[in-house]
Amino acid sequence: MNCPHCSSLITPAQPVCTQCGFSATAIRGYLGADWVKLARITDNAQLLSLKHTRHLETVLDDFERRFPQCFMAAYIGALPETLTLPDLGFWLINHGAFHTHQVSRRNDFGIVLMIDPVRQQACFTLGYALESVLVEKTLTTLLKKLQGPLSKGAFATAIESAVSLIDQELLTAARSEPRQLEQAPSSIGDASDLGLHTLRPPSRPLLHAPKAP
Ligand SMILES: [Zn+2]
Repeated sequence: MNCPHCSSLITPAQPVCTQCGFSATAIRGYLGADWVKLARITDNAQLLSLKHTRHLETVLDDFERRFPQCFMAAYIGALPETLTLPDLGFWLINHGAFHTHQVSRRNDFGIVLMIDPVRQQACFTLGYALESVLVEKTLTTLLKKLQGPLSKGAFATAIESAVSLIDQELLTAARSEPRQLEQAPSSIGDASDLGLHTLRPPSRPLLHAPKAP
């Protein structure tokens, strides 16, 4: 996975970022190593109405139908000073059992929009299979487009726009490398857990990032 602070590669074998010192182990020490169950829309700040939440659930269902490998989720919460949004996002993508439309969806293909309404910050956290598809520069551009609704406190609008923007980016990526997208699930197997090792190099990007317009 990419380091949530500087986007360098960190792995289970090397959980401390060699570039910035971020420690996945320290985050686990702070938030625990257990899996947590959470809804795709987790509104810990209680800013969304029931009507908005229900509408967003249908938007997320549509997204999952369009991209059968992927899911999107959103977390809204005011974090304590000791925790950053990217840190919590990193932990959630590693320890969150998201209540997706189909239970089989893996966090490797998850995209979580993290929002702190008090700090007025937002970030995207990606499962590692998507890190080469939605690169840092793309995510920064998408976040800029969400700044309008986020600054007005229109969180439901921001989440719905985020889904639509990610949808477009994934479509662009799929069009540029359609065959590689089809191969994506087989290259993210769990065979190594069984002592079997794939012949394909693990670091091989699944897709090329869409070119900037
Ligand atoms: Zn780092």
